[in-house]
Amino acid sequence: MASKKQAVELIALQCSECKRRNYTTKKNRRNSQEKLEFRKYCPFDRKHTLHKETKIK
Ligand SMILES: [Zn+2]
Repeated sequence: MASKKQAVELIALQCSECKRRNYTTKKNRRNSQEKLEFRKYCPFDRKHTLHKETKIK
């Protein structure tokens, strides 16, 4: 891959209830500037919770 400016960013999805990072996904910064939020299954809460975008270090 060419080392152009990266438009796609790897992010983690953090559970809003237990604060664990259960999922990772990719985000195209050109298409979506705002923070992503998904309702996903959290195995620690054992239910669907809101997962919010956080940075991966
Ligand atoms: Zn959770």
